Amino acid sequence: MSEPLSGPARLEIDLAAVAANWRALAALAAPAVVAGVVKADAYGLGAARVAPALWAAGCRDFFVARAGEGVALRRILPGARIFVLDGLLPGTGEALAGHRLVPVLNQPDELVRWRAAAAQAGRRLPAALQLDTGMCRLGFSAAQAAALDESSFEGLAIELVMSHPVVAEEAGHPLNERQRQRFAAMRHGLPAAPGSLANSSGIFLGRGFQLDLCRPGVALYGANPTPGRPNPMRPVVRLEAPVMQVHDIVEEGSVGYGATWPTRPGARIATLPVGYADGYPRSAGNRATARIDGIEVPVAGRVSMDLTTLDVSSLPEGAVRPGSVAELIGGPDGLDRLAEAAGTIPYEILTRLGARYERHYLDAEVPA
Ligand SMILES: *Cc1c(COP(=O)(O)O)cnc(C)c1O
Repeated sequence: MSEPLSGPARLEIDLAAVAANWRALAALAAPAVVAGVVKADAYGLGAARVAPALWAAGCRDFFVARAGEGVALRRILPGARIFVLDGLLPGTGEALAGHRLVPVLNQPDELVRWRAAAAQAGRRLPAALQLDTGMCRLGFSAAQAAALDESSFEGLAIELVMSHPVVAEEAGHPLNERQRQRFAAMRHGLPAAPGSLANSSGIFLGRGFQLDLCRPGVALYGANPTPGRPNPMRPVVRLEAPVMQVHDIVEEGSVGYGATWPTRPGARIATLPVGYADGYPRSAGNRATARIDGIEVPVAGRVSMDLTTLDVSSLPEGAVRPGSVAELIGGPDGLDRLAEAAGTIPYEILTRLGARYERHYLDAEVPA
């Protein structure tokens, strides 16, 4: 029987599982170094809690997207190496240099300006270089990379040369091998810096993709980096909500906006204090499921801003009451299953997890 809950939905974030996931990836990729990608507030889970847990597990290299995220992370982890994926955007040079952040330089202009910053600072500044091997998003093109010579890096310490995979989660896709080869070719003539190609899924493509440093994000947070195969990662996120009200249906009608879920007499509908304003996707309406007492029940009708309704008719009468607990995300595949049902990816589910949840971090080892 569920313990009655009161108040808001509860989001449990298992920091011990994050640490265990990092250690598992580190073991898999060794001797390659495994970093931690903690951009977007550690995929919505709270970088201030997640990053120290990764550090305690042995992680020393971190990636953020924005310079501001790097500045915030520097306060938390004074000894970490912090890469900023946005690179050297106008107006960020001082913050980057001042907080010992490593910009991932994405185009020739950034390289020129970072060199000038080093000259002005009178000291060597660290940098990473990103090469575009097919994503067509950020990074030096083949021609731009080929035009670089020793003088291009004067005053800089190039600590990493990296690129990003396009379809790493599809192990059999020919683009993976093409990108690997393109990356190797483009690195010729560049400073002999460590190379990095793999995101979470890329690590599972094998040695040829692990290179010197791997950059997992989503796998640390429990999503399956090997879709179609069992999830090798430990689940990190559990979302549960107390039932607020149960409707015993006595006549034909429907549930929610748009009348998209028809009801018949004898059905029972339970309402939860979770909605799309909490990041529970509206597209989960009529498609996703939850669990009560281990029994899977469908989300019935549209998800509203603050509320979600479940059809709990399959549970015995009286089994679901106000205070009964429904699990909306949980178990080894819970995150991936919700994403799939909602027509999105685990990344989007994680990064939208709402601010109204009561957040609980599980881990005794990591100081608050
Ligand atoms: C977000 C990001 C990663 C992490 O990707 P996952 O798929 O979450 O492991 C790695 N590298 C770069 C450049 C990224 O932008």
